[in-house]
Amino acid sequence: MSHTTWTPMIFIVSAPSGAGKTTLCDKLQAEFKNLHYAITATTRPSREGEVNGKHYYFLTEDEFERRLKSGDFFETAVVHGYRYGSPKSPVIEALRAGRDVLMNLDVQGAAVIRKCVAAAPPGDPLHRELVDIFVVPPSLETLKKRLVKRGKDTDETIERRLKQAKEEISHWQEYKYKVVNDDLAEAYDNMRAIILAERHKTRNRADD
Ligand code: ADP
Repeated sequence: MSHTTWTPMIFIVSAPSGAGKTTLCDKLQAEFKNLHYAITATTRPSREGEVNGKHYYFLTEDEFERRLKSGDFFETAVVHGYRYGSPKSPVIEALRAGRDVLMNLDVQGAAVIRKCVAAAPPGDPLHRELVDIFVVPPSLETLKKRLVKRGKDTDETIERRLKQAKEEISHWQEYKYKVVNDDLAEAYDNMRAIILAERHKTRNRADD
């Protein structure tokens, strides 16, 4: 057992749309080079500025179906008619290579991964410490303002996102940590503090 490193773990970040998850995850990736960001696969078309293999893996329906059949995904979901899935093998490879993994997931996705990890027996690459963080906006009014300011959604979509946000926020107690994203710099400091503290714990489930 080495004292100069830690056993890699899985970090999950969830947040209602617009709460600042992407902004915070981007900052974490820029600072923690060791952190592997798990990229989601989707059949939705790419938006301007999105890069295949960086923001998402953009797949055709057929390719998605093929990967689903070969058991490549932890979980899949359909959102607004498009399919989304979390690929397994890059996560396992990263953990094996000694890297922590950062997964950006919705509440349902997080629940599936939690179960999967909890069920993995010792010796399985997914028998890991799992650290889940829920990012909340300071209020629904603030969330609305941010969605309007971001300028990517129609009024109707914003109303739908706000309804969804209320539902998602009701799950905050399923998470180990909660970070309020009011002041961005402060929220980021709290995120990094969580990662650093977790890495310095004397107990790590993967060492059992
Ligand atoms: P998500 O990925 O959760 O949907 P984003 O990271 O895209 O959210 O953030 C939504 C919008 O709010 C973006 O325009 C972002 O720049 C802005 N934003 C994020 N955090 C803050 C904050 N603490 N204060 C003000 N604006 C923020």
